[in-house]
Amino acid sequence: MPKNIGWIGLGAMGFPMCLNLVKKLSSDTHFYVNDVVQGFVDKFVQEGGQTRIHACASAKEVADKSDIILSMVPEGSHVRAVYLTPETGLLASNLASKILIDCSTIDTGTSLAVRDDCASSHPRARFYDAPVSGGVSGAEKATLTFMLGSASSNPDLPFLQHLLGLMGGNIFPCGGASLGLTAKLCNNYTSAMISVATSEAMIVGMKAGMDPRVLANIFHTSTAQSAICDDWCPVPGVVPGAPSSRDYKGGFKIALMKKDVGLAVETAGRLGVEVVLGRPGLGVYEEAAADPRCEGLDSRVVYRFLGGREDWREGFPEEVEMRSQETRRLVREARERGL
Ligand code: NAD
Repeated sequence: MPKNIGWIGLGAMGFPMCLNLVKKLSSDTHFYVNDVVQGFVDKFVQEGGQTRIHACASAKEVADKSDIILSMVPEGSHVRAVYLTPETGLLASNLASKILIDCSTIDTGTSLAVRDDCASSHPRARFYDAPVSGGVSGAEKATLTFMLGSASSNPDLPFLQHLLGLMGGNIFPCGGASLGLTAKLCNNYTSAMISVATSEAMIVGMKAGMDPRVLANIFHTSTAQSAICDDWCPVPGVVPGAPSSRDYKGGFKIALMKKDVGLAVETAGRLGVEVVLGRPGLGVYEEAAADPRCEGLDSRVVYRFLGGREDWREGFPEEVEMRSQETRRLVREARERGL
């Protein structure tokens, strides 16, 4: 394992991800970190320990001092800035055979363009896209899923799996450059559309007089079963731990979902794939993200945007709650027994 690790982007995800590396790698490993917000860098130095964490003024300085560099920034424009800014970007450094890993969720075109620039100016350096799923809590608990833009025959893979494994539970080589991002966008597209479909189906069922907990149990044991309904149910009060049950606080922000659905639709267009749900689905996320009732909240707040009832409990018996949890327990146990 290299002894000098570079990290760029210490936001909601990057901060806890890098902190896991600090905690898990030996005490003679040093970290060179940068963020455009100086306060995040200062906080990281404070939490990670001043002897091992070194604040850098630019991405180039990070690259000069590190053997391997990871980045976690919001969008393609930020990745371009980190890598390509003349004189202060990563590529302004003498990268030699260093490994660069970008974990940001961005469009595949930008990722491939940055990779090409890297290959032409530093032919021995290797650039990988490695976006993640699992959210901030997955970043904190080191249980993220990494979707790695690499072939499974790549000689770097064992090292990448070991390094990323310090921050995540599942590392999937997706086949080649930019395919990690493709996988991430396909996942978030599916998840976003299921959220809309689940919200709409719940609204219909409730309007007809159904208790959403009963409907959620039926979905759970039938073909509409999904993690969205089981763990992230858009209807408040159905799944106690879901963001919807705490006024949609925490979770995966609607603006990020809007961005990812937009990137997925754009990718589909570039590949000549007609996505019939994509355009209207993206419209829902665009409008919801700009709606003051939903802004800044978990993306499952589309239920609220679509007019879902949140005060539904009135008139429904309390014991359904217990039946609901009991059904879930029995189904989970049956699944664990392979039934
Ligand atoms: P964030 O906005 O909290 O953090 C991004 C950080 O990058 C900020 O601290 C920002 O100051 C820094 N930054 C921006 N431009 C920079 C530059 N040029 N140089 C140095 N630092 C720069 O965002 P986040 O939630 O950590 O998300 C990061 C990426 O991870 C996004 O692409 C997002 O889609 C993806 N993601 C987020 C989540 C989530 O739940 N938040 C989950 C999975 C994937």
